[in-house]
Amino acid sequence: MFEKILIANRGEIALRVQRACRELGIKTVAVHSVADKEAKYVKLADESVCIGPAPSNLSYLNIPAVISAAEVTDAQAIHPGYGFLSENADFAERVEQSGFVFIGPRAETIRLMGDKVSAKDAMKKAGVPCVPGSEGALPDDPIEIIKIAKKVGYPVIIKAAGGGGGRGMRVVHTEAALVNAVNMTKAEAQAAFGNPMVYMEKFLENPRHIEIQILADQHGNAVYLGDRDCSMQRRHQKIIEEAPAPLLTPRIRDKIGERCAEACRKIKYRGVGTFEFLFENGEFYFIEMNTRLQVEHTVTEMITGIDLVQQQIFVAAGEKLAFRQRDIELRGHAIECRINAEDPYSFVPSPGKLTTFHMPGGPGVRIDTHAYAGYVVPPNYDSMIGKLITFGATREQAIARMRIALSEMLVDGIKTNIPLHADLMADAAFHIGGTSIHYLEQKLGISHK
Ligand code: ADP
Repeated sequence: MFEKILIANRGEIALRVQRACRELGIKTVAVHSVADKEAKYVKLADESVCIGPAPSNLSYLNIPAVISAAEVTDAQAIHPGYGFLSENADFAERVEQSGFVFIGPRAETIRLMGDKVSAKDAMKKAGVPCVPGSEGALPDDPIEIIKIAKKVGYPVIIKAAGGGGGRGMRVVHTEAALVNAVNMTKAEAQAAFGNPMVYMEKFLENPRHIEIQILADQHGNAVYLGDRDCSMQRRHQKIIEEAPAPLLTPRIRDKIGERCAEACRKIKYRGVGTFEFLFENGEFYFIEMNTRLQVEHTVTEMITGIDLVQQQIFVAAGEKLAFRQRDIELRGHAIECRINAEDPYSFVPSPGKLTTFHMPGGPGVRIDTHAYAGYVVPPNYDSMIGKLITFGATREQAIARMRIALSEMLVDGIKTNIPLHADLMADAAFHIGGTSIHYLEQKLGISHK
């Protein structure tokens, strides 16, 4: 087992990974920007290294600085968290070339899944159901493009192969608008991602976002750890996640889960990963794979009792999975609310000093946050300041506990989205469960197109 791990991230996830390491008796190195030098997880780490100024491209995205920090502190492995360098294949490669273990999949797997055209192709071959669409990238010939769209059926969505973060997509309803839309998306993709390749999918009108968590070791074993529903989104970004997905039968869950685990065995996947699907009329359609730990991994931990960060570390150290699929039992229901420093309804970020920060407690309440009273939320990074997770024997109990926890939570000095979460916990459609990815924006009167 490793003796020392460097955590190449910040915020709540830096603290989350650190806690997993400390429980295992592994020493931690925190790397941080100048803006985060007072952070709680920096102080709690065994060692810390300042890797640059506040802007992330000069610090958290600075590959040579992160690797030098591992060298000077003599760490053996690097945990990338989520975001930042976590899905950067070049980083994973450089880490391993420099003699450290990258806590994540092999660089070639990250590269394969980072290109959505190659990812879809690999998944189709591995037997994972995909959204109907073009076979690979769209050709240049407009007549061919029109033919493909006719076959797929309108509306279609044009997506950039190199896209991410909800950018590089355009919905097209008519043949008249098609060729122009393809050309515009190509130009945008070139500018934003340095890759003009685009592909076409059928645009699903009212899908849910359901994802499958998988875990694979380096010895050919892979299991799925149930599903999560992340349909409550704004601007294609999740704000509430829950596990298991409401109204899904165990049969359908097991069928898709087994497909994903089998795909992992086929591509020799290593570590944790998530298969993201759109789910409509009882069918799953693969959209992308995330080759890292996700923000919402917590709800899976609550219902499986498995610490996903520790599993990542075991797998990276070359250990075999300690359990098989039949040992995994889903118990109860968990919900996560992402607590963001932002206006609850306009989503405008609200950085600044937390004058009050009072967290709830009680049975089934988990809080993952690096914040505290007096903490200053820097303006440079993502607005998420913590995650409130509740667990219950049933979904109703998890919702009730979330409602109470939100009512006990006091954060002053900045705006947060706690009022929006409180509204949603009282929402009739949310109580039934199974709302689509457009539900929240429709409720708030925002157009999603
Ligand atoms: P990104 O990597 O940018 O997050 P995704 O491929 O995961 O891109 O898609 C992000 C979101 O865009 C989805 O959660 C969904 O809201 C919407 N979307 C993507 N593809 C489709 C589709 N074929 N039909 C309907 N909505 C889609």
